[in-house]
Amino acid sequence: PLRDDDSHYFQSYAENDIHAVMIQDKVRTATYAKFIQSSPELFKDAVVLDVGCGSGILSLFAARAGAKRVISVEASHIAEKAERIVKDNGLEDTITVVQAKVEDITLPDGIEQVDVIISEWMGYALLYESMLDSVLRARDRFLRPGGVMAPSQCKMMFALCEAGEIFKERVGFWSDVYGFDLSAMGRDVYEDAIVDIVGPETIYSEAYTIKDLYLGDVISRQLDFSTPFTLVSTAERRTKIHAFVLYFDVFFTATGEPIPPDTDVYLAREGDPLLAEVWPLGGRAHTARRLSMGEPLKGKGRPKVTSFSTGPASVSTHWKQTLFLLREPMTVSEGTTVQGTFKCRKSATNSRELDVEIHYVVQEPSEAAAVGDAVVQMF
Ligand code: SAH
Repeated sequence: PLRDDDSHYFQSYAENDIHAVMIQDKVRTATYAKFIQSSPELFKDAVVLDVGCGSGILSLFAARAGAKRVISVEASHIAEKAERIVKDNGLEDTITVVQAKVEDITLPDGIEQVDVIISEWMGYALLYESMLDSVLRARDRFLRPGGVMAPSQCKMMFALCEAGEIFKERVGFWSDVYGFDLSAMGRDVYEDAIVDIVGPETIYSEAYTIKDLYLGDVISRQLDFSTPFTLVSTAERRTKIHAFVLYFDVFFTATGEPIPPDTDVYLAREGDPLLAEVWPLGGRAHTARRLSMGEPLKGKGRPKVTSFSTGPASVSTHWKQTLFLLREPMTVSEGTTVQGTFKCRKSATNSRELDVEIHYVVQEPSEAAAVGDAVVQMF
């Protein structure tokens, strides 16, 4: 049978609800707003391409930041709403909505190149949905040399997660249901990654960067990858680890250049002015002063970096975290090392899904011999 990975995908973005969820994700939307509206050096008089504009929210931010022209491409029917919204806000001279796949268009009005590409293409575990391929295609066709991708960099982070609660909810729960053993119901849980929120107290290692994607030059082929990792337990006493956790951090720079290697991601906290003041954008609350909260420069010559994290230490986003439950939980203590390989590629049966394989070995600091183990999991 013919495969069509697109129609179901774009259908899912035709409804209002999913756009409401994204826009109400304060960490996500406020960070885009902050970056766009506090980078006049990038947006003033610029020609901007918004890949997958949805409701058009990022295009509206770009117009407000002084863009000369915004081309907003959206393949799903939500494009009709975006068009309406552009008119309702009196921005039809600046923003042009094009309802099509970005792969299929040429730019309107003889425009050949753009100065900036804005897009919110990130999926669960960063790469789920594979929308990034479309954004990279747009970059290669339309971004002028020296133009800027926003965001400009994303890191996939990997760590040990105690995940006892999640284990109880998804597996343990089934072993006694009204006095019956229904544990067969919990067995499939290992086949799929789990998207759920875990607290910072459940993390038992430093996070390891398993993929550092620089949007300026990454190519589609590099999105199927295999990376070795090493996680060192920070547990103070023996602790049972039920899962690996995966999340991602997102970075913006007005120059589009890579961030310095030691750049910390911004961690939003409850009561954060970013969240409290930027959203809701009621009345006149969105003054330039309030929105220009770039992170402090850490020294001369460092680029100003705007960022957010989808990790457990930040206010949670609609991406939550991604958990890979272990068939065999491991017990770690201080200094236990977990070494392995993380493999991620587009699924052969649906290019919007991912196949993930994690192979690893656990080693106690005192032991010479290693305990072998492996796990194969799929989205
Ligand atoms: N920019 C909006 C929506 C982000 S969700 C916001 O920030 O709220 C991603 C959107 O990209 C979806 O609406 C989806 O339909 C659209 N999209 C994904 N791939 C696309 C492609 N290849 N061409 C055009 N639109 C695409």
